[in-house]
Amino acid sequence: MAHDIESLIAALPEVSFVTDPARVKNKSRDFYWYSPILRDALDDVRADVIALPATEAQVAATLAACHALRIPVTPRGAGTGNYGQAMPLAGGVVLDLSALTEIRFIRWGSARAQSGVRLLDLDDAARAAAGQEQRMHPSTLRNATLGGFVCGGSGGVGSVTWGGLRDRGNVLAARVLTMEAEPRILELRGDDVQKVIHAYGTTGVVTEVEIALAPAVEWIDAAVAFEDFAAAAAFGHALACQDALLKKLVTVLAAPIPQSFLRLLGERAGAGSHLVLTMIARESYEAFEAMLRAYRARLVHARAPDLIDGLLPIYEYAWNHTTLHALKVDRTITYHQTLHPAPDSVRTAVELHARFGDEVLQHLEFVRFDGTVACFGLPLIRFTTAERLREIEAIYDASGCPTFNPHTVTLEDGGMKRIDPVQLAFKRETDPLGLLNPGKMRAFHEPDYAPAARGVHLFAGGSGESTSRSTGTS
Ligand SMILES: Cc1cc2nc3c(=O)[nH]c(=O)nc-3n(C[C@H](O)[C@H](O)[C@H](O)COP(=O)(O)OP(=O)(O)OC[C@H]3O[C@@H](n4cnc5c(N)ncnc54)[C@H](O)[C@@H]3O)c2cc1C
Repeated sequence: MAHDIESLIAALPEVSFVTDPARVKNKSRDFYWYSPILRDALDDVRADVIALPATEAQVAATLAACHALRIPVTPRGAGTGNYGQAMPLAGGVVLDLSALTEIRFIRWGSARAQSGVRLLDLDDAARAAAGQEQRMHPSTLRNATLGGFVCGGSGGVGSVTWGGLRDRGNVLAARVLTMEAEPRILELRGDDVQKVIHAYGTTGVVTEVEIALAPAVEWIDAAVAFEDFAAAAAFGHALACQDALLKKLVTVLAAPIPQSFLRLLGERAGAGSHLVLTMIARESYEAFEAMLRAYRARLVHARAPDLIDGLLPIYEYAWNHTTLHALKVDRTITYHQTLHPAPDSVRTAVELHARFGDEVLQHLEFVRFDGTVACFGLPLIRFTTAERLREIEAIYDASGCPTFNPHTVTLEDGGMKRIDPVQLAFKRETDPLGLLNPGKMRAFHEPDYAPAARGVHLFAGGSGESTSRSTGTS
């Protein structure tokens, strides 16, 4: 459908727009190409124009003008989402929020900032101002924005201690603009923040976020090798369970992930070794070394963050960065997302490792939620066909490890695996014409849509279903 972009630009003389086709194409994309299925499906997706508001008032004016002209709007932070979340399926405007970078306050225990602030800048500011740091961040810390993480992400580095974004107490408040003739400003607090967390910007444009902070820690990056995958997974689980040992990351990578895709780390690990990557607080390091001796673990890399030795920060080998490193070496690799529920996380990971061998390379991320340690799987898959991908997912599901499809753009078919009634009701209130990021919330656009019932969700958080995600029952 053709959108009246000329009238839009004329109506908003104070707002900067990008119309150059190459730049428009670039800003219409994210890391959707992680998935061979999304790569084929979304390659032609393009906005008509990119709007770059510099203030919240300009965001509101842009939304009002788009509403009047019935032009769809897709919010964007840094565009590092890897499910096409920030891609404008119906064209229209990509609303680039990266100029909204003001930090409102940093206090003991919390911070509030505009949504376009880079997570790394917020972390640096929190350390400098109050000796604090973010409880969790995606492995894209250095690029991603606060609003993009809250609206498009789920958890990451820090989730081994603090759970996910949707866990009560991590995201404290969000300031949201509605998509109406006269956009309203809403302040969501408490459980109301769930209305925008991981909603892909379909329920409102977030202009400010308030998050909880933790005391800043001097982290030491470490990598530990094992000759046996089961031993690596058991060590990862034991480390994640050590409540008195401060850690921000526990990642297990089966051979040959380090050797084939992580270069220096692979060389240090040596042929055939499986790695556990971790971030340990300096004051916990001695206790960690004692644990290494007890588990006969081989330390292959340890460094304080300020030492340069050719390696990236260890978190940039973990979470979705593992997949990125693999894709840089081999474009036929893809991945899926799964939960290895407690108490059988290690058992199911070891069984699936043995079953799939080299076709599915195990990548585990330990997380803690509701007092229980479990792990997510982000295994690398040697892609052959879409049918085989579905078969692999079915085998995972049958093994008690629900999969969360990363090869889809919709909320319901991906990590959520359900209609979120709270977000659906909120969207009807904030975006009655369905102009915000159209095509991402099936329940809104397809009134007869009925997802398969399932009670396990990635980082479901304060929705009353928390037990199901750790036990795997519905
Ligand atoms: C290498 C790599 C590693 C990653 N690791 C992780 C990880 O560890 N954990 C994790 O959760 N994710 C991870 N991701 C996914 C992604 O990087 C994060 O979710 C990131 O926080 C997204 O931030 P962004 O600013 O790039 O958001 P974008 O990609 O720009 O946007 C994400 C979604 O939020 C919406 N949005 C953005 N800003 C706003 C706003 N202000 N208001 C309303 N809606 C908005 C967009 O429309 C889109 O739907 C990874 C991705 C890659 C490529």
